Amino acid sequence: MAGVTAPALAPAPALAQAPASAPVRVTDRCAGCGACLLTCPTHAIRPAGPTLLVLASRCTGCVECVEVCPVDAIEEVPTDEPTDELADE
Ligand code: SF4
Ligand code: SF4
Repeated sequence: MAGVTAPALAPAPALAQAPASAPVRVTDRCAGCGACLLTCPTHAIRPAGPTLLVLASRCTGCVECVEVCPVDAIEEVPTDEPTDELADE
Protein backbone atom coordinates (compact mmCIF):
# COMPACT_ATOMS: atom_id res chain seq x y z
CA MET A 1 0.00 0.00 0.00
CA ALA A 2 2.26 2.63 -1.30
CA GLY A 3 1.22 6.06 -0.28
CA VAL A 4 0.85 8.56 -3.00
CA THR A 5 2.41 11.82 -2.17
CA ALA A 6 1.76 15.04 -3.87
CA PRO A 7 4.53 16.14 -6.16
CA ALA A 8 6.83 18.63 -4.67
CA LEU A 9 6.13 22.12 -5.80
CA ALA A 10 8.87 23.73 -7.74
CA PRO A 11 10.40 26.71 -6.04
CA ALA A 12 8.64 29.89 -6.95
CA PRO A 13 10.48 32.15 -9.29
CA ALA A 14 12.25 35.04 -7.70
CA LEU A 15 9.29 37.36 -7.91
CA ALA A 16 10.04 38.69 -4.48
CA GLN A 17 13.31 39.96 -5.79
CA ALA A 18 11.80 41.95 -8.61
CA PRO A 19 13.02 45.52 -8.52
CA ALA A 20 10.89 47.98 -6.69
CA SER A 21 8.83 50.25 -8.82
CA ALA A 22 10.36 53.52 -9.86
CA PRO A 23 9.50 56.65 -7.90
CA VAL A 24 7.51 57.91 -10.88
CA ARG A 25 5.46 56.34 -13.62
CA VAL A 26 4.08 57.40 -16.97
CA THR A 27 0.33 57.20 -17.22
CA ASP A 28 -1.82 56.74 -20.29
CA ARG A 29 -2.24 60.48 -20.56
CA CYS A 30 1.15 60.58 -22.27
CA ALA A 31 0.99 62.48 -25.53
CA GLY A 32 4.34 61.22 -26.75
CA CYS A 33 6.06 64.60 -26.97
CA GLY A 34 9.37 63.20 -25.75
CA ALA A 35 10.12 66.04 -23.38
CA CYS A 36 10.63 63.75 -20.43
CA LEU A 37 13.04 61.59 -22.39
CA LEU A 38 15.18 64.61 -23.12
CA THR A 39 14.93 65.96 -19.60
CA CYS A 40 15.67 62.91 -17.50
CA PRO A 41 19.25 63.28 -16.28
CA THR A 42 19.73 59.55 -15.83
CA HIS A 43 18.02 58.37 -19.02
CA ALA A 44 15.61 56.35 -16.94
CA ILE A 45 12.65 56.73 -19.26
CA ARG A 46 12.50 54.36 -22.17
CA PRO A 47 9.95 53.63 -24.87
CA ALA A 48 8.02 50.47 -24.08
CA GLY A 49 5.53 49.69 -26.77
CA PRO A 50 2.82 52.33 -26.83
CA THR A 51 3.93 53.87 -23.59
CA LEU A 52 7.03 54.82 -21.68
CA LEU A 53 8.67 52.85 -18.95
CA VAL A 54 10.60 54.33 -16.07
CA LEU A 55 13.48 52.11 -15.11
CA ALA A 56 13.56 51.69 -11.36
CA SER A 57 17.25 50.97 -11.47
CA ARG A 58 18.01 54.37 -12.98
CA CYS A 59 15.32 56.69 -11.68
CA THR A 60 16.46 58.90 -8.82
CA GLY A 61 13.05 60.41 -8.15
CA CYS A 62 14.18 63.91 -9.05
CA VAL A 63 10.73 64.55 -10.61
CA GLU A 64 12.16 66.73 -13.36
CA CYS A 65 10.10 64.66 -15.78
CA VAL A 66 6.96 65.32 -13.77
CA GLU A 67 7.60 69.03 -13.97
CA VAL A 68 8.39 69.11 -17.67
CA CYS A 69 5.47 67.01 -18.89
CA PRO A 70 2.99 69.36 -20.58
CA VAL A 71 0.01 67.11 -19.96
CA ASP A 72 0.77 65.95 -16.41
CA ALA A 73 1.14 62.40 -17.58
CA ILE A 74 3.87 61.45 -15.14
CA GLU A 75 2.95 60.88 -11.56
CA GLU A 76 4.85 60.08 -8.45
CA VAL A 77 4.38 56.58 -7.14
CA PRO A 78 3.39 56.53 -3.50
CA THR A 79 5.90 54.79 -1.33
CA ASP A 80 4.69 51.75 0.54
CA GLU A 81 2.32 53.20 3.02
CA PRO A 82 1.60 51.33 6.19
CA THR A 83 -1.97 50.11 5.95
CA ASP A 84 -2.24 47.79 8.91
CA GLU A 85 -0.21 49.57 11.47
CA LEU A 86 -2.33 50.94 14.25
CA ALA A 87 0.19 52.71 16.40
CA ASP A 88 -2.39 53.87 18.90
CA GLU A 89 -3.49 50.41 19.94
S1 SF4 B 1 6.70 64.63 -21.30
FE1 SF4 B 1 4.68 63.73 -20.80
S2 SF4 B 1 3.55 63.71 -22.76
FE2 SF4 B 1 5.72 64.03 -23.24
S3 SF4 B 1 6.51 61.95 -23.67
FE3 SF4 B 1 6.89 62.39 -21.48
S4 SF4 B 1 5.10 61.56 -20.39
FE4 SF4 B 1 4.55 61.72 -22.56
S1 SF4 C 1 12.13 61.29 -11.65
FE1 SF4 C 1 14.08 62.12 -12.48
S2 SF4 C 1 15.38 60.32 -12.74
FE2 SF4 C 1 13.27 59.56 -12.53
S3 SF4 C 1 12.52 59.38 -14.62
FE3 SF4 C 1 11.92 61.42 -13.88
S4 SF4 C 1 13.57 62.80 -14.57
FE4 SF4 C 1 14.33 60.68 -14.71
